[in-house]
Parts: sequence; structure tokens; C-alpha cells
Amino acid sequence: MAQVIDGKKWSSVSRQETAQTVELLKAKGVKPGLVVILLGEHPASMSYVRGKDKAATEAGIYSEVIHLPSSTTETALVQLIERLNHDDRFHGILVQLPLPEHINEQSVIAAIAPHKDVDGFHPVNVGALALGISGFVPCTPLGVMKLLEYEGIDVTGKHAVVIGRSNIVGKPMAQLLLSKSATVTICHSKTQNLSAFTRQADLLVAAIGKPCVIKADMIKPQSVVIDVGINRLDGKLCGDVDYASASEVAQFITPVPGGVGPMTIAMLLHNTVLAAQRMAGITTSE
Ligand code: NDP
Repeated sequence: MAQVIDGKKWSSVSRQETAQTVELLKAKGVKPGLVVILLGEHPASMSYVRGKDKAATEAGIYSEVIHLPSSTTETALVQLIERLNHDDRFHGILVQLPLPEHINEQSVIAAIAPHKDVDGFHPVNVGALALGISGFVPCTPLGVMKLLEYEGIDVTGKHAVVIGRSNIVGKPMAQLLLSKSATVTICHSKTQNLSAFTRQADLLVAAIGKPCVIKADMIKPQSVVIDVGINRLDGKLCGDVDYASASEVAQFITPVPGGVGPMTIAMLLHNTVLAAQRMAGITTSE
């Protein structure tokens, strides 16, 4: 049976590390602050935002949620972001996605000051990741890298297969694995014979958004399987991997829920504190 990578446990470790850094910063007169902007009443988004707010407060971060109607115009949203860019209480600005259809997401993301873009979606930060220079890394793939680090899993020279090429998960995931010297293959919905790739994967990252696409016979024995997907099947949460059968084959596996999900929030707190450190001129290793 595969060893379960416990995202709840590791996110708690990470959040404690962050809380300790917050204490040190406060002693230097710096109070990290995060503002989350939410438009509309989308139930999943509202739940994610509540979770982020609570976790930030628990870590000692000053947290505010600005909840606006879904009818808010793009111009009004961009003006708000521009004000927050100059508001010293906030080191991190996050706009909860998805946005209502009348708003251009890329224009809104581009309005966030790159040094406050703790989601790592601004083109400057996307470019920094591609170049391997200092910036902000999107929270979910960063959380995956942190899980691997905590578990002592070295990806150097390993074949990592990432399924999914979105800007928020698949592409940055591939960049991060490449930066750690993995040999990286990216698969997507047009990939022919997906299982021919997945069966070669020493590390398989599934970020598809479809329940149980990855079956046991698609997994290389003794590999590491990271399931990013969050899906609902018969009223229950599940990942992209058929967990029960896959855990018979893999060496390590993340469950859903309780795997990558909790790390995403932990990395948001991490990035917020990193932003505060950078703005205060404190040198970090990142
Ligand atoms: P997207 O829908 O943006 O991307 C999905 C990717 O999967 C696309 O690149 C798509 O290919 C590819 N894909 C779809 N179907 C198949 C298939 N049958 N075979 C191979 N590839 C396929 O989703 P996200 O990247 O935003 O999210 C992926 C999943 O991760 C979702 O379940 C989401 O809920 C979850 N998620 C979890 C987070 C967490 O905190 N744990 C955070 C963010 C997301 P193509 O590009 O060709 O369309």
C-alpha cells in the first residue's frame, strides 16, 4: 500500500512556521496584511475566501475581505485594486477567481502590483518563474513542491508527468519541477495515448478536474502520485485519481480531500509573509 502524503499535517506545519515568522516580523514593527476581493455569491468561492480569511487571522496576519456585488464593473474593480496597491496595510492582494463574465480576468490580474501579487498570476511573476528569478509562485503548485520537500522526495533526474496545462496549476507546476531538474512531460486533453505517458512517470501530477480519470493501470509501480483535482462525485469530494486502486500501485499518494488542497492556503499565507518581508527590505532565501 502507498504511503499517504498527509496534506493536513504538512499544511499545519507550514502554517506554524509562517506564524512564527509573523511574530518575528511584528517584533520588528511589520504586520503582514492580506486583502481578498470577492465578487458575487458563488458558494465555492465564498467558502474558499472564508477559509483564507480564517487561516490568515490564525497565523497573525491582518486580513480583510472586500465583498462586492457581481454587477461591479471592471473599471471599479481596477480602481479598487489601484487604491489597494498603495495601501500600506496590505502586502498581499488576492482577487478570488473566477470573476463574472463581463470582467476580463487578465486585465484585473495585470492591475495588481506584482510585488503584492501573492497568487503569482501577474505576467511579471509568471515571467519570473519562467526565468528562474525571484517573484511569487502560484500557491497550488508551490504547495505540491512543499509537500515533496517535507516528505524528502527528490525529483532530480526523475520523469515527472504533469496532466493539465492551466496557468494556475499545470504550467507553473511543470516550471517548478523543471527548476528542480526533473525531466518534465506536460499532457492535456489533446494528448494521444495518455496512459503511455503516465505509465512512464516516476512522479505523476494530475490537475485535470475530472473524477477518477487516472486508474491504477495508468500508474507506474512505486511512483509518486499527486492528485490536485477537486471534483464532486455522488455528492462526495474526490480527485482526478482513482484513489483506492492507485494506492495499491504507487509508493506515495495524496488523498482528496486532505492532500494538496490544505497546502494551497498554507502557501498563500507563506507568500503574504514573503511579500511583507520583501517590502520591509528583509532578505530571505527565496
Ligand atoms: P483547468 O480546467 O483550467 O485545466 C484542466 C487541464 O486538464 C487542461 O489543461 C485540460 O486540457 C486538461 N484535461 C482535461 N481533460 C483531460 C483529459 N481527459 N486528459 C488529459 N488532460 C485533460 O483546471 P485547473 O488547472 O484550474 O484545475 C485542475 C483541477 O485542480 C480542478 O479539479 C481544480 O478544481 C483543481 N484545483 C485544486 C486546487 C487545490 O487547491 N487543490 C487549486 C486549483 C485547482 P486542455 O488544456 O487541452 O483543455
